Amino acid sequence: MRGRTVHPVWGGRPTAAFGGAPPPAWPQAPGHGAPRPYPAGFTRFAAPGPMPRRPGGAGGCLLAAGIVGLVGFLVVAVLGYGLASLGSLATPTPRPSVTTLAPTGTTPAPTTSVTPRPTPTKPVTPKPVTPEPKPLPVNPYTRQHPGGTYADDGYNPPRRVLTWWPTADSIAQAKRWRTSNSLYAHSVATPVRCARDPMRIGEMSVAAQQAGYDAVVACLMRIWRTPVERAGDTLPRPPVHVFTGTVTSACGKVSAVNVGGFYCTANGALFMNGTMRTVYNGQGQVTFWGEEILAHEFGHHVQARTGILDASWRYQYSLKGNAAHVEATRREVQAECFAALAMVAIRRSAGMNASDYAAFVEVRRRSAGGLPDHGTADTLERWLRKGFTSARPAQCNTFTAPESQVR
Ligand SMILES: [Zn+2]
Repeated sequence: MRGRTVHPVWGGRPTAAFGGAPPPAWPQAPGHGAPRPYPAGFTRFAAPGPMPRRPGGAGGCLLAAGIVGLVGFLVVAVLGYGLASLGSLATPTPRPSVTTLAPTGTTPAPTTSVTPRPTPTKPVTPKPVTPEPKPLPVNPYTRQHPGGTYADDGYNPPRRVLTWWPTADSIAQAKRWRTSNSLYAHSVATPVRCARDPMRIGEMSVAAQQAGYDAVVACLMRIWRTPVERAGDTLPRPPVHVFTGTVTSACGKVSAVNVGGFYCTANGALFMNGTMRTVYNGQGQVTFWGEEILAHEFGHHVQARTGILDASWRYQYSLKGNAAHVEATRREVQAECFAALAMVAIRRSAGMNASDYAAFVEVRRRSAGGLPDHGTADTLERWLRKGFTSARPAQCNTFTAPESQVR
């Protein structure tokens, strides 16, 4: 079993935050410069940790991590829960005990006797009152969720995690799995029912975010199950963990300070930062932004389950310099394109509109500043738009695109 190792996509070597050294069997390509701070609004993708294999294979691990910089710390509104004083230390007023006698026969009026309680000899300690939590303000981004017929509607994805995933046996096979994967022959299920208002992540408790993301994962499963299974692979439902502070995943420790979300291949789990702020632009909230990040990480899950992820990492390790960087970028922007496919598949039921898509593009463009491996603003927009106009993962085959389109 290899050591637990995580490779950030940009930066040539694992950062201290992710820990570990490159696995000895997978020589790391020369660095692309020192790890950079994460600019606002970006997603980072990292890889390998311990890597279980198909039955019969050697042990190993792969981690994919996506880091979004549009994170901040949730401003926790500390509600001043004052303890209401009940009667304080004053002597309680004696409460009368009332006994009503049932009328008998034709007796006109009931007889009532009043027995006063004795006055307590010492003051009663007031009980603290737990105030009701403040309800969230009404969501101004509430949408219409049209009914109708939706694809794969009866599928309730079970909670089951597989511990191995397809791994290529050679560099030549790895190359092919990226460019000619059987996933590209099929379409995602669309439209899929995901009748949800956009999450207001900055105003939601961790538990509420957990429930929200979990529901979106179920939507993503219905979108992706069909093409992945038709491609001959399996798509287990990935658990999603909302975390704050530092999370210890099967792929190592990850801090919420710079991480929006990441995917850990070692146990096929999604992690979402529970301290992200709601993102706003000139039109208001950038709706479905947390959902889009989740869909990007789920895109890495699809890559993992179809062998693309492992193949791409292996191929990247055989490359050096700019070629390795380009390979990493292909992998990242494909996940982004997959996220776009998913956003389209839930468009009808979620009640998305054109401005939602424009906002995705705007935020991704804004986040693209100066990062290798995640594409320029133009690259991100190109692949987002390809995903927005298609239901076919083949549209997201970044591995056959000219290098000029994946810079
Ligand atoms: Zn990513």
